[in-house]
Amino acid sequence: MKHTVALIPVSTYDQAQVDAAVRQGVGLLGGVGQFVKPDEKIVLKPNLLARALPQKAITTHPAVFSAVCRLLREEGCKHLSYGDSPGSPTTTPDKAADTAGIAEAAAQYQVEKADFASGSVVAFPEGRTAKSFYLCKGVQEADALINICKMKTHALERITGAVKNQYGCITGVNKATGHAAYPNSDVFADMLADLNLCIKPRLHVMDGIVAMEGNGPSSGTPVNMNVLLFSADPVALDAVFAALVHLSPEAVPTCVSGAKYGLGVMDDASIEVVTPDGILTVSQAREKYGKADFDVFRGVIRKGFLFNFMPLLPFLQHRPKADLKKCIACGICEESCPVPEKAVHSGQGKKAKYDYKKCIRCYCCQEMCPVKAIEVYRHPLTKLLSGK
Ligand code: SF4
Ligand code: SF4
Repeated sequence: MKHTVALIPVSTYDQAQVDAAVRQGVGLLGGVGQFVKPDEKIVLKPNLLARALPQKAITTHPAVFSAVCRLLREEGCKHLSYGDSPGSPTTTPDKAADTAGIAEAAAQYQVEKADFASGSVVAFPEGRTAKSFYLCKGVQEADALINICKMKTHALERITGAVKNQYGCITGVNKATGHAAYPNSDVFADMLADLNLCIKPRLHVMDGIVAMEGNGPSSGTPVNMNVLLFSADPVALDAVFAALVHLSPEAVPTCVSGAKYGLGVMDDASIEVVTPDGILTVSQAREKYGKADFDVFRGVIRKGFLFNFMPLLPFLQHRPKADLKKCIACGICEESCPVPEKAVHSGQGKKAKYDYKKCIRCYCCQEMCPVKAIEVYRHPLTKLLSGK
């Protein structure tokens, strides 16, 4: 049986139109009752990566969050809460939710704040890569989680969508520990697949009305993609996101790991895209709704050749690089670095200075820089060999 992704074209955050689009999208998947029961405790998980205004496209837009709240209330769901654990330990969930407009939307529908500031270890013995997670209390207390993610590029995983958004269910500083424990994009994606299998979100809703391209997930450029996506399968949903931006799901570690671990499917033949105008194949959806010039890294490193030599040729490795003209010496990159002895030093008047021998290329520093001073540097030779 094919895995279904619902795609609703919508080009505005006008609340009435987004409300209608969310109702239609969930309806195409069979309705709210397919995913949750009215008496269950449901936690909503938007993307609240940083303290950012909605128009920056870093966080889930409040109109999408609000539409999901409204739909659940209309369907009689009584116990709703929400939360996310932001990327930086210095940003609290409350501050991020206030700035993103999510707190106000939640208040309108009496959706309570869940505890995403504290948590405890949850064992996951069946995990293939991760055997336990430090999960937020708000996630542990819920019967069901609905993932309301944002369509964005990502320095480590190329894109961040449905699968990656669950990383915000890990409490503050433990996220940095996770980057150190799973120190490359493939093993990190394996861990994320386990995390999704542990949490088992019931439904994934992706805000792709205005997405982020380029230097994502926080320093990129907002771009109109004009879609909302819905699915019970986060891998299929991310594969459709990848298709819309003309990126092979094979190049997206979270899709590869998710398919490998049985979290979902990523191949076109196993996915159907349902739209208000009928059912499409993934390639038809790409033709009709995709954006070929979406700015995302599409290169494929030929693992049999270059990859094997990369550790021997450090100058070829991609790495974070700070533009010192933009750097304000805030120290956030050093704070965010999960390497105990720190691979970047900054703050107290000192601009960012990297020690690439210590760097694990997790890109937490790039994610957290408040002034977009950090980019991923790719050596021209690796770009050439990777076809980009
Ligand atoms: S986070 Fe950005 S602005 Fe702050 S010190 Fe690092 S590079 Fe400079
Ligand atoms: S310097 Fe940046 S990319 Fe390197 S380990 Fe630290 S946070 Fe990760």
